[in-house]
Amino acid sequence: MNGIQIAIDGPAASGKSTAARLLAQRLGGLYVNTGDMYRTLSRGILDAGVDPVAQPEKVAPLLETWDLRYRRMDDGSLQLFFNGKAVRQEDIRAPEVADVVSHVAKLPEVRQWMLERQRECKSLGTIVMEGRDIGTVILPDATFKFFLTASPEERARRRFLQKGEIPSQANLATVAAQIAERDRIDSSRAVAPLKPAPDARVISTDGMNQEQVLDCLLAIIQEAN
Ligand code: C5P
Repeated sequence: MNGIQIAIDGPAASGKSTAARLLAQRLGGLYVNTGDMYRTLSRGILDAGVDPVAQPEKVAPLLETWDLRYRRMDDGSLQLFFNGKAVRQEDIRAPEVADVVSHVAKLPEVRQWMLERQRECKSLGTIVMEGRDIGTVILPDATFKFFLTASPEERARRRFLQKGEIPSQANLATVAAQIAERDRIDSSRAVAPLKPAPDARVISTDGMNQEQVLDCLLAIIQEAN
């Protein structure tokens, strides 16, 4: 399959990252994680000494000179670069980034800036792009659109087991509260809120493991061919 676009949206910890990565591998396509783009931008804003929650007006001027893009590496994979430097997962999965990322992502100037950069990824070939507004805004003509969900309890449990972005003293209840707050901000923002596209297949991943989610997506794709 060449040049197809697959959009995978859904709330935090709904299983979309793993599904998107595995699906891209299976189809020989490229995996684009737009959440990583928002996290990288948030990291850059914090590192520039700006508090995006208290000083949102200071964010747009920073974007004018910043560069964020996916590049194809020699091994065929994609790597995100921020101002010429490869982005490291440990830098963008930090708790302080998770705390502010939804506040950064609701700024209209940020969304417009991202839209241009995310649409550019179409030129890379077959892509599986995951996020919150891929099916609705970024790739409205995507070949396939999926919206993954899971119950708040299941999502909190998954995120809790992932570690990394959660503070060491966090418990299941605090992780659940943080996810719920991020989803609330993402779903209620004025520009490109989190919601399924009208033509998206909505899939509840409760009780499914990663392989089962992948099989479900592949079955829908194969059914259409
Ligand atoms: O997918 P992930 O949880 O890493 O995304 C982090 C945050 O980035 C989301 O909670 C949301 O605020 C923002 N985001 C977005 N639109 C996207 C992808 C992520 O607003 N397409």
